[in-house]
Amino acid sequence: MTADDPATADIRDSVRALCTRFPGAYWRELDRSRGYPTQFVAELTAAGFLAALIPEEYGGSGLGLSAAAAVLEEIHASGGNGGACHAQMYMMGTLLRHGSGAQKRSWLPQIARGEIRLQAFGVTEPSSGSDTLALRTTAVPDGDHYIINGQKIWTSRAEHSDLMLLLARTTPADQVKKRTEGLSVLLIDMREALGRGLTIRPIRTMMNHSTTEVFFENLRVPSGALVGEPGRGFHYILDGMNAERTLIAAECVGDGRWFIEKAAAYARERRVFGRPIGQNQGIQFPISRAYAAVRAAALAVSHAAQRFESGARIGEEANIAKLLASEASWQAAEACVQTFGGFAFAEEYDVERKFREARLYQVAPVSTNLILAYIAEHVLQMPRSY
Ligand SMILES: Cc1cc2nc3c(=O)[nH]c(=O)nc-3n(C[C@H](O)[C@H](O)[C@H](O)COP(=O)(O)OP(=O)(O)OC[C@H]3O[C@@H](n4cnc5c(N)ncnc54)[C@H](O)[C@@H]3O)c2cc1C
Repeated sequence: MTADDPATADIRDSVRALCTRFPGAYWRELDRSRGYPTQFVAELTAAGFLAALIPEEYGGSGLGLSAAAAVLEEIHASGGNGGACHAQMYMMGTLLRHGSGAQKRSWLPQIARGEIRLQAFGVTEPSSGSDTLALRTTAVPDGDHYIINGQKIWTSRAEHSDLMLLLARTTPADQVKKRTEGLSVLLIDMREALGRGLTIRPIRTMMNHSTTEVFFENLRVPSGALVGEPGRGFHYILDGMNAERTLIAAECVGDGRWFIEKAAAYARERRVFGRPIGQNQGIQFPISRAYAAVRAAALAVSHAAQRFESGARIGEEANIAKLLASEASWQAAEACVQTFGGFAFAEEYDVERKFREARLYQVAPVSTNLILAYIAEHVLQMPRSY
């Protein structure tokens, strides 16, 4: 199963060519040791793919979200995983739209050259979970600095990043009219912060994801770390989150393609009762159904990405793309496991690894229930359920 979008055909070919140097055995070994794919990320960076969204004037390729989505989709369709490095792409949405000229001049060329990694997105907290507006981490102005205190959880790639985009409360919740006010985005230089108020603790998970919890204890950061205006952070982060949902949806489409390709190939070859198992409709139909779902999800992703490129707020499109794609990839994962039978559970086929990896996306970066609640409230104008 291949993608048929002519606008991104070249970039897809190049990513696929790079990925052939990182076969299943590479990802399997890292999965066993919970290692970071350093070499893969280095080659992806050197080839310029991670700088796809950085404007040319800052040394990037100046491409849009569709191209970034194509890169991540192809990584996943090739059997790899973009989770180690995708955040740089989705956080660009916030930085490019709301960062100052000075911030862009100072960080973007270094990010484009691969000298600086922008991979940590600090939003979720242990006590507030999906209720982002209830977050408790504070950034209190102190002269020309902010003092940060609090805790984040699931801050993925924190150990492999130089910068963190952090959402923190700068005005106490009881002093703002709306809960969406009083939050600010800060771009933290983690190299300066580590050991001086910032502590990182890794969390071992079901799949290889390099995620962590981070603790802030009187961390002082210069006020130049503030992105945009104070108090408007939640609105800024929404752009990043919509880009994130679209890009993760593209990864799900890639996973779906991988599962379907594997399942169909195995169904054609595996002979039981004297004929290929793929001759049975009980095997064919779940794969065909998953294929249709993945194709439909791919259209939703491409629509969301194009609307984002036109400057639109894409809450509806990004959420729908993420919902459909995460469910389609899981449907494909199920069909693949059932098709492989017992061999699905053997490490060497990569099916069980991809199965564990694919499960995440109905929970993170936003869980399915919260997407359904968003559609009910913001698109269909039903009463808020929570
Ligand atoms: C591997 C991994 C990597 C992650 N990486 C990052 C990262 O880099 N940065 C970051 O900030 N966060 C990250 N996250 C966090 C992720 O975004 C959250 O896990 C996700 O948003 C869900 O929040 P929660 O885990 O606190 O679940 P909770 O909010 O506790 O929800 C638990 C369950 O209850 C349901 N639920 C809650 N409220 C309602 C309601 N009102 N109506 C219906 N159902 C409801 C949810 O849908 C969910 O199924 C990551 C998480 C994981 C697991």
